[in-house]
Amino acid sequence: MARIAVVGAGIAGLAAAHALREHEVVVVEGAGRIGGKLSTSDVGGVDVDEGAESFLARVPEGLGLARAVGLGDEIVHPATTSARVWARGRLRPLPPRSVFGVPANARSLAGVLSAPEVLRAAYDLAAPMPDDDGAGDESVGALVGRRLGRAVVVRLVDPLLGGVYAGRADELSVRATAPQLAGAAGSLMRAVARSVPVTQSPAPVFASLRPGMGALADAVARRSGAEVVLGRPARSIERLAQGFRVVHGPTTDERWVAADAVVVAVPPAPAGRLLADLAPAAATELATIEMASMAIVTTVWPSDGLPSATGSGYLVPPDAGRPVKAVTFTSQKWSHVGAPGSIVVRCSLGRHGDTAVLQRDDTDLVELAVAELSLTCGARGRPSATRVTRWGGALPQYAVGHLDRVARIKAAVAAVPGLAVCGAAYEGVGIPACIRSGQAAADQLLPMLRADRR
Ligand SMILES: Cc1cc2nc3c(=O)[nH]c(=O)nc-3n(C[C@H](O)[C@H](O)[C@H](O)COP(=O)(O)OP(=O)(O)OC[C@H]3O[C@@H](n4cnc5c(N)ncnc54)[C@H](O)[C@@H]3O)c2cc1C
Repeated sequence: MARIAVVGAGIAGLAAAHALREHEVVVVEGAGRIGGKLSTSDVGGVDVDEGAESFLARVPEGLGLARAVGLGDEIVHPATTSARVWARGRLRPLPPRSVFGVPANARSLAGVLSAPEVLRAAYDLAAPMPDDDGAGDESVGALVGRRLGRAVVVRLVDPLLGGVYAGRADELSVRATAPQLAGAAGSLMRAVARSVPVTQSPAPVFASLRPGMGALADAVARRSGAEVVLGRPARSIERLAQGFRVVHGPTTDERWVAADAVVVAVPPAPAGRLLADLAPAAATELATIEMASMAIVTTVWPSDGLPSATGSGYLVPPDAGRPVKAVTFTSQKWSHVGAPGSIVVRCSLGRHGDTAVLQRDDTDLVELAVAELSLTCGARGRPSATRVTRWGGALPQYAVGHLDRVARIKAAVAAVPGLAVCGAAYEGVGIPACIRSGQAAADQLLPMLRADRR
């Protein structure tokens, strides 16, 4: 058996460890627990996710891994997915059949947009085709603004991208975050109409796990059979005559793992530091990937405490000038969450570049969440329990040119036999994409490891 060190016990690193389980795997994790952004804990007697709460069920990796590690019976789907957006002074339904806020037809924008703004959006159907070949990259905001007008960007695209990336439409790469729009080569609405069927498949779009998403990390780690070293940040990766040495822990208590291969599954900043000597070109590129920080304020209310909380939740565009960017009525969306007679709500704060709100203390963040719920849901009284989870460096920002940057990183890493990278920094921040990335890192290494064994 070969010996492999996986650095980082988020879902990407754990998926890599699981895919490499025919070998001896050691996972080196800097924090005192595994899971990274997957963590479930108790709020007022109810288990609620602190970070990711669900995953896409229409791609195979999330469901596949959950089933492979014995969680098939724990898979659940949302009880409601009807989400709204704050627009023109009140909450309004999101247009059906849309991709990141770009709808299949202009009519469905009525309400979220004023009549002149809807007319402007309809110009997308008549606007001339671009004279470039569509191969270049630009921001989602630039493309959608040009085709449908700024109102669509501000009221729909920005809040939706804020929900997934904690990022901004005018900064995020269209090729990396909304490839369905990038390839449109003409009307974006027609492209959406082609890609989103009129009759939606009855198959659920999202899934979660009854015990919470933290259970996925636990089960994957267990089934991988890997040794997991906790509370020991990797400090350097050295290349030896044969294989590598991963040095971890403080200088006063330095230890290392010798390995035939290494998977680096940490966010871009630590990945860049670890690769500085081994793959300097990759390290330089990794250093340019910015992260957005955020906080999740979870509150538990008596069932009559939020009279107008309906549906799965809502989004708030940045131009509303409010600190909360998204609200999930968690116990309405997921029937397995919560206790009878209570409503669990998660409020999300923090967008890329907007750090001031996150400098406020926990009491202030709870007050901001309560004020938001008073405005939109008629909140009465006080929540019976609260929890503030801070995610510093939560989500990588796929800036314009991201896919080319990732190609350069991957090429520089592939030039070092036995080295692979994976995680949210590269080809998707969602859980299935991170799993795919971890499995791809394993696939990259397995042929070499099997050849070495012969
Ligand atoms: C609040 C929030 C909500 C989200 N909601 C969803 C959702 O509902 N659905 C969805 O699909 N996605 C969601 N995401 C995105 C998704 O959860 C993440 O992109 C994904 O979990 C990242 O996995 P990862 O393994 O790449 O990184 P991480 O989870 O960040 O794991 C990296 C690990 O590396 C460790 N590490 C860092 N430096 C070192 C070092 N030097 N040595 C050793 N270890 C180190 C860290 O401690 C961490 O455990 C959400 C993200 C956040 C922040």
